[in-house]
Amino acid sequence: ESKNPNEPEFIQAVTEVAEAVIPFIEKNPKYQVDNLLERMAEPERVTMFRVPWTDDQGNVQVNRGYRIQMNSAIGPYKGGLRFHPSVNLSILKFLAFEQVFKNSLTTLPMGGGKGGSDFNPKGKSDREVMRFCQSFMVELQRVIGADTDVPAGDIGVGAREIGYLFGYYKKLRNEFTGVLTGKGLSYGGSLMRPEATGYGNVYFTQNMLATQNDKIEGKTVVISGSGNVAQFAAEKILELGGKVVAMSDSGGYIYDEDGIDTEKLEFIMDLKNNKRGRIKEYTDKYTNATFHEGDRPWSVKCDIALPCATQNELNGDEAKTLVENGCKAVGEGANMPCTPEAIEVFLDNKILFSPGKASNAGGVATSGLEMSQNSMRYNWTKEEVDNKLKDIMNSIHEQCVEYGKDENGFVDYVKGANIAGFVKVADAMLAQGVV
Ligand code: NDP
Repeated sequence: ESKNPNEPEFIQAVTEVAEAVIPFIEKNPKYQVDNLLERMAEPERVTMFRVPWTDDQGNVQVNRGYRIQMNSAIGPYKGGLRFHPSVNLSILKFLAFEQVFKNSLTTLPMGGGKGGSDFNPKGKSDREVMRFCQSFMVELQRVIGADTDVPAGDIGVGAREIGYLFGYYKKLRNEFTGVLTGKGLSYGGSLMRPEATGYGNVYFTQNMLATQNDKIEGKTVVISGSGNVAQFAAEKILELGGKVVAMSDSGGYIYDEDGIDTEKLEFIMDLKNNKRGRIKEYTDKYTNATFHEGDRPWSVKCDIALPCATQNELNGDEAKTLVENGCKAVGEGANMPCTPEAIEVFLDNKILFSPGKASNAGGVATSGLEMSQNSMRYNWTKEEVDNKLKDIMNSIHEQCVEYGKDENGFVDYVKGANIAGFVKVADAMLAQGVV
């Protein structure tokens, strides 16, 4: 902690991994050399830069840009860019650290990184967002490249931002390469990338339920967020016969007793993606539903909870409420949405709980598939990508079971994901020497 003052999120993420991995290292002498865990907790490189841009009124605005290149032992750095006013070094280091283990679990050759800015895209015009992205890329392009570091989207960075970023990289470097993922289909994107994180989370939850001979069909589901991950998690739940009764954004949550069906979900997608509106507006159209301002949706009774908004959005008390209401499974779609206290409640009550680094890895995995397609200059069909995504989620689930199952057959997915993620990276680092 003295080494990383004022970095609570980063310390939280490292502590979670260390708690799982240290007992494993103690039992496995092979990993007791070369200070592996401490090296993993130190980014290989951090770049911070000024991002000046001109707003529509002609005023110069200044934001701060970052790229954390955490670990490249198993492949080029890979991880999203986040544009949100809360972005700081601690948050990006926690995300980059998580990304290393997540990418390792995908079975694909990708190291870990993360980046972004404290820029707030909300309320900005498309032109302002474009000028910001261009200024951001002027600096970012110095440290990225198709074989070096391949950023993607995250909170506040969607198709629009990736398009502007890619366009400017191409102009500056005069090369059309797979330097970013999450691209539009007309310029190198992969089918299924927008759906991948949300779908993958539901596939993983399906796998967890299957260990208890259970399934999604007929289950009541609460989802937080209404962005990319939340929308497609909801879509897949509906397809599998589940009922989604609540979704949210940073303003509060909506509860729809009748269920958010396909048509209502389309309304939410249009509202959030095209109109850039607030979830509250759902109740203007669907008047049976209620809006709960400033609240999170965890008091709504459900069988499955899918936190898909942001870090630390579900605390210990909320976890207790979920358990008391009969919740059986929690699949993290966001990164670190559950606090350590909440995870303890879930594990103590033998709830099926998957950490984001396992259950939301479908997004980066499909980004990895986008990189492969770009290198081959060839596109797979939707079915091909979806089948690969399912295989990858199955494999991640198997790895978690291998390292996380106890003598009574209970799977601690937190322990399983952390150890499995660690082993592959550690083996590569050992082979490559002290670098
Ligand atoms: P989006 O920007 O599309 O959506 C984010 C959603 O979360 C919005 O509904 C937003 O509400 C809400 N939200 C954001 N910040 C807060 C906050 N501080 N409090 C309450 N609600 C908040 O992002 P994504 O869906 O892409 O990402 C969601 C999570 O999933 C993040 O943790 C991200 O790191 C993680 N993730 C995303 C992947 C991807 O492929 N997109 C891959 C793996 C993980 P509002 O509209 O009000 O801002």
